[in-house]
Amino acid sequence: MSDLALLGGRPVRTKLFPAHNFIGAEEQDAVRKVLESGVLSKYLGAWHPHFYGGPEVRAFEDEWAEMCGAKHGVAVNSNTSGLLACAGAMGVGPGDEVIVPPITMSATATAPLIFNAVPVFADVDPTTFCIDAASVRDRITPRTKAIIVVHILGNPVDMDPIMEIANEHGLMVLEDCAQVPTGTYKGRPLGTIGNLGVFSLNYHKHVHTGEGGVVVTNDDDLAERVRLIRNHAESVVAGRPGINLINMVGFNLRMTEVEAAIGRCQIKKAPDLVRRRRENVAYLEGAFDDFPGVTIPKTAPGRDSCYYFHHMFYDEDETGVPRPLLVDALRAELAPYELREDEGTLINYGYGGPLYMLPMFQTKTAFGDVSCPFRCPHYGGDVDYSAGICPNAERSHATVITHDLMKPSLAKEDLDDVARAFNKVFARLDDLRGYRRDNED
Ligand SMILES: *Cc1c(COP(=O)(O)O)cnc(C)c1O
Repeated sequence: MSDLALLGGRPVRTKLFPAHNFIGAEEQDAVRKVLESGVLSKYLGAWHPHFYGGPEVRAFEDEWAEMCGAKHGVAVNSNTSGLLACAGAMGVGPGDEVIVPPITMSATATAPLIFNAVPVFADVDPTTFCIDAASVRDRITPRTKAIIVVHILGNPVDMDPIMEIANEHGLMVLEDCAQVPTGTYKGRPLGTIGNLGVFSLNYHKHVHTGEGGVVVTNDDDLAERVRLIRNHAESVVAGRPGINLINMVGFNLRMTEVEAAIGRCQIKKAPDLVRRRRENVAYLEGAFDDFPGVTIPKTAPGRDSCYYFHHMFYDEDETGVPRPLLVDALRAELAPYELREDEGTLINYGYGGPLYMLPMFQTKTAFGDVSCPFRCPHYGGDVDYSAGICPNAERSHATVITHDLMKPSLAKEDLDDVARAFNKVFARLDDLRGYRRDNED
């Protein structure tokens, strides 16, 4: 009889992990003040001083920008909105291609699409999942207008070669920083190396406002264009001489005073919350045994991960235990986080495969029934979304295991349980090999 929980044994831990909840008295006080003021949002969608929002929004923007060493912060209601506004601000449009990575959240690729530009997928580095400069270079055509990079899983992209390519070809660079608040690359704050950076403040991120996002940039013109797209550009530009009208079709992407007030409190906590993730990962890696078939990537110098997830690669051919069975066995040993009970224990396979495998790209169906923008008459290219275009992304995704059991709410005893569970399962791979055979018979 095996003592693995998956096979009927006692789990290492049934008690829920402490909630990742860093909303405290400070946030409650700040929100109460906003509610008592009666002004929950101060925006006007017209050319007026209030076009830029109320006092909390503007203070939040300044404070986030200061944290990043950026000239401008522009608050928005999500990272998705921020990506969208940045794509518009960069001026991408029909006929343009924007190079993006395939391993990321879908909004990274839909942001240029909204403006009828075509996303072109470049391959990733096989260990960090970050976009690979050599592959980016390979994807450049006369239509290329911009590059969107994603610091994925918390790993900073190798920015120097990306910026070199961008400068050579006169391309804009947008950094999707959703998973790297306070992150740096060779000492430089992420989000400020490219032309624009966007951070997410959704509930799942390192720091959050429930939903929210913030754009940073050192470029006055781009900052203003992002603010215009955030707030009904089309009805404001008439009163603003000198604005380039391209993509000045606005939205309502505005953050409320309530979220901004929460965000100002979260800024103060961000450096510590990220540092504790790093400490927790170092502790876990020290407590893990040497697992057969597993490689845990080391972070490169100057590119410390912010650990949105901690990842490792698993070779099932070497162990003879399929990855889904191993992951089920690990999950069975541990409990979910409090407040997230119904999501289960988040030991996973990364991001659900390369984005180009989504039906939208496979069928080239986005706007209308005329395959716009993929077969748009303004687009002379023939973008390829077939399986195999990004072999590293496909191969690495097929072997990765990710988990989030290093959040700052975990104490040493909790981390000890995580290590105990991994060590227990990897010491009993024989039991799982047997389990597979039984099931097949
Ligand atoms: C979370 C995330 C997004 C989307 O952020 P929202 O604030 O939910 O819109 C986009 N890109 C990446 C890499 C993310 O992790």
